Amino acid sequence: MSSDFELAPIRAQFPALQQQVNGHPLIYLDNAATTQKPGSVLQAMDDYYRHHNANVHRASHTLSTRATQAFESARERVQRFLNARSSQEVIWTRGTTEAINLVAHSWGMNNLQPGDEILLSVLEHHANIVPWQQVATRTGAVLRVIPLTANGDLDLAAFHALLSPRTRLLTIAQVSNALGTVNPVAELIRAAKAVGVVTLIDGAQAVGHLSVDVQALGCDFYAFSGHKLYGPTGIGVLYGRAELLEQMPPWQTGGEMIERVSFSGTRFNRPPFRFEAGTPPIAEAIGLAAALDFLAALPEGWREHEAALLQLLLDGLQQLPFIKLVGRPNQRVGVVSLRLGEIHPQDAGELLDQMGIAVRVGHHCAMPLMESLGLEGTLRISLALYNSEAEIEALLAALARLPEFF
Ligand code: PLP
Repeated sequence: MSSDFELAPIRAQFPALQQQVNGHPLIYLDNAATTQKPGSVLQAMDDYYRHHNANVHRASHTLSTRATQAFESARERVQRFLNARSSQEVIWTRGTTEAINLVAHSWGMNNLQPGDEILLSVLEHHANIVPWQQVATRTGAVLRVIPLTANGDLDLAAFHALLSPRTRLLTIAQVSNALGTVNPVAELIRAAKAVGVVTLIDGAQAVGHLSVDVQALGCDFYAFSGHKLYGPTGIGVLYGRAELLEQMPPWQTGGEMIERVSFSGTRFNRPPFRFEAGTPPIAEAIGLAAALDFLAALPEGWREHEAALLQLLLDGLQQLPFIKLVGRPNQRVGVVSLRLGEIHPQDAGELLDQMGIAVRVGHHCAMPLMESLGLEGTLRISLALYNSEAEIEALLAALARLPEFF
C-alpha cells in the first residue's frame, strides 16, 4: 500500500461513515449501488439552497444569474472531467438509466431499421438491456449478445465474430457492476468505429475508479450517474459527440428545450438544451461538480489504495473454503461477487448487517448474466476509496464466522 497515502483525513470527510449500525461501527461495502457523500458535496448543495436558489436560464434577477452561472459551470466541470471537446456535449440527465434511454429513444428509434443489429454483452445492467429491447421491438432491430469467457472476461473472439455489416450500435458497460470486470472498451470502440458502428459506453461503474477521457476513447456516447462517484442521486450525464447530437431529435419536450413555440409549430433549442426539457436538477448538478472537485483534490495513491484493498479481499476470500468467487476477470475493479456454499446470500447479507456490514445480495440488476452463470444471485462486496484495511479484515472475520450460524 502507498505509504504516503493517508486514509483517516479522507474518511473524516464522510459524515455517514461515522456511525454505528446495529451496535457496530458501520462498514459500508455497497459502493457499487451508491457511494457515500463527502461534506463538500453536502455543503455545496446546502449553500445553493440557502443562498442562491432560483430557476436557471433567462435570468432577469440576481439569484437566477447566480444559479445559472453555478449550473453552467457545473456542466463545464463535467466537460473537464470527461475531457469532452465542449460543454455542449454534456447533457444533464437523472442518471445512467435516463442517459441510455435518451440515446435509445432519440437516436435508436430514429436510426434503426428491421434487421439492424445492436451489439451488447451478457454482463450488462438492465439499464443497458431493457431500453434496447424496447427499441428492437419497435424498429425491428435485433439484439446480439457478446458472451463471457469462463473467468468472467468479455469473449473478444466472439465480439469480433458478432461485429458485422449489420451492426449499427455497440452499447456496452466499461465495468461490470456484478463481477467487477473491466471491459477493454478502447479496443472495442476502435474495432466498431472502423466499420462505422455507433458506440455507447455505460460508465456507471467506471467513473468512480478509472480515469475517463472520451476523446481518447473515441466513443460517440458515454453515460454515468453522479451518485456512484460521491455525488448526489438524481443527476447523471450523457456525453454525446456534437456531430451526432446536432442530428438527433428531442426525446422529452416542454419548457427549456425550445427556441420558439407557437401553435403553428415549435423550433427546438440546440444541444445540450434540446435534450433537457423542464426545470433541471440544479442543486444536484452543483453537488456533482463538488464531487468531481473532491476527487480531483485527492492525494495521489487513492487508486493504489483501492487496488491494495481489493487484493487483500481476494487473498482473504481464498482462505475461506466454503466461499467461491463468481468470476475471476483478468482486469477488475473492487467489485467482488461470491457464493457461500450452502449458505444463501440473502441470509449471509442479513447476518452481516447485524454486524454493521453493508453488502448487497441478489441479481444486481443483471438477470441475464446470472442466468448465464446458472445462479439466482450472489453476495456482492464493492469497495470505495474510503474503505480501510481494517474494514476488509473485519469483513473477512465476519464471513469466516458465518458457518457457525447454520
Ligand atoms: N449501468 C450500470 C453498470 C450500473 O451499475 C447501474 C447502477 O447500478 C446503472 C447502469 C444504472 O444507474 P442509475 O440507476 O444510476 O441510473
